[in-house]
Amino acid sequence: MRSPADTGRRVIVVGAGGAGLAAGLEAARAGARVLLLEAGDQVGGATARAGGVVYAADTPVQKARGIEDSVDRLVNYYATVSRHELEPRLMRRSAEGTREVIGWLEELGISWEPERLYVAGLEFDPRGHLPSGDTRGLGPAGGAMIVAALLTAVEERPEVEIRTRTRVADLLVEDGRVAGVRLADGTEERADAVVLASGGFGAGAEMLAAHWPEATRHGDWHWYLGPDTNVGDGLRMGLAAGAELRGYGGTLLETPNFGRLNDAFTPPWLIYVNQRGHRFVDETDTYCVMPHVIARQPGGVCWAVFDDAALRKVADGGHVDPYGLGVDLESNWTGAMLRRQIDAGVVRTGATLAELAEGTGIAADGLAATVELWNADVAAGRDSVFDKSGELVAVESGPFYAVELRPAIIGITFGGLRIDDAARVLDTAGRPIPGLHAAGEVAGGLDADVYAGGGTSIGNALVFGRVAARTAVGVAAPA
Ligand SMILES: Cc1cc2nc3c(=O)[nH]c(=O)nc-3n(C[C@H](O)[C@H](O)[C@H](O)COP(=O)(O)OP(=O)(O)OC[C@H]3O[C@@H](n4cnc5c(N)ncnc54)[C@H](O)[C@@H]3O)c2cc1C
Repeated sequence: MRSPADTGRRVIVVGAGGAGLAAGLEAARAGARVLLLEAGDQVGGATARAGGVVYAADTPVQKARGIEDSVDRLVNYYATVSRHELEPRLMRRSAEGTREVIGWLEELGISWEPERLYVAGLEFDPRGHLPSGDTRGLGPAGGAMIVAALLTAVEERPEVEIRTRTRVADLLVEDGRVAGVRLADGTEERADAVVLASGGFGAGAEMLAAHWPEATRHGDWHWYLGPDTNVGDGLRMGLAAGAELRGYGGTLLETPNFGRLNDAFTPPWLIYVNQRGHRFVDETDTYCVMPHVIARQPGGVCWAVFDDAALRKVADGGHVDPYGLGVDLESNWTGAMLRRQIDAGVVRTGATLAELAEGTGIAADGLAATVELWNADVAAGRDSVFDKSGELVAVESGPFYAVELRPAIIGITFGGLRIDDAARVLDTAGRPIPGLHAAGEVAGGLDADVYAGGGTSIGNALVFGRVAARTAVGVAAPA
């Protein structure tokens, strides 16, 4: 069946995560025939594994909570967090687009409860929107709800063909114009425009070595939260077509390396010390800043310290989920897990603090002074240095324990193809590469060094997926 608005244009979308599904849906609605090519066994990508937070300002959800916010404030926030490194017009498109995305997803069946809004970045008023909906079994939490809503809408469009287990290997470039793709099996598919939506490169050893070597600094402690198919194909193809690279780094989560547990939040009852024995952060701080803070400590590592009384009090169940993301994952910080790791010798033990210091290489005098102050603070009911809230627990009765932590779990990669606010991929001279568009994690220039907030990635994937589709079909004039 041909759409009444059929433009006769064919759009190929590479990758069917959040950005790809959004692009596919919007391209079909704008009158294109769409071929959505997905390397994995199922659609969803990293998006389907995500908490599903969408970072947005000036939304009806915020208004229902009485929160006054605006697009200007969000653009200003991005400028501040990035120290003016990001292009304002991209940030404006992002801020306006995420506001629209909240309503757009609502039309697709997602609901947002105002009481679940939370502070997802470094802002004062909450901008983290948590979705409610059906996951269709595509993943554990809110990200899968968004993927399911998009997939349901895409499946209703006869103009969209989805092919899973179909890896795109190269772009076809003819006379300087992207004219289609070559698949891994050697066959070619031609199109008027190609949208790269192939996600980040956290699973790509070569790309990590080339574009973010610090991410693998801790050797076999490092692993990637997203799918194995996110090896950076789109980035490689775009660079080969002459695109400019933008952005560097990404998000890392600290891990005790007990196993492949995605445990982003630390309970308040333990303290982090560096090799000098000093506390250096509010241990419950957001993962937007934590990896940077730990990476700057001597050796780029730290230790979580607690005592036997704390261990005896720790419950066995329950994931630390301060934001109510609803992801039911095994926690590193249960009594059962910690006892297993103590028995295995992974968690270090000392009958006294001095013995613990000797076994870990932590400076004994620094540790003693830190614990002395901490215990006095706990008795006084206030963390006098970092103002940590939550249950503060003294470190006073041996045996004492120390868990080494390293920022080594890769969440998101920031390096990507430079795009303009119409999601056209720009070459190294700053000109659009004809026929080539990018959206989602494969696009760069949307994050600076510090992650602005949980929810900015999915938000941008959906915004620029929609924008890329409209530009690719030719229904929105590039700015
Ligand atoms: C566990 C986890 C939790 C997260 N939580 C949040 C959150 O709550 N909020 C937030 O904003 N961000 C979150 N993020 C980050 C966010 O999910 C991603 O940045 C975003 O979803 C990326 O969307 P995308 O469409 O660009 O990529 P993806 O969703 O990863 O989709 C890319 C797709 O492209 C496919 N692909 C790759 N190469 C090829 C190829 N050559 N040919 C064909 N297909 C290919 C992949 O298989 C994949 O399906 C989280 C990430 C993880 C891993």
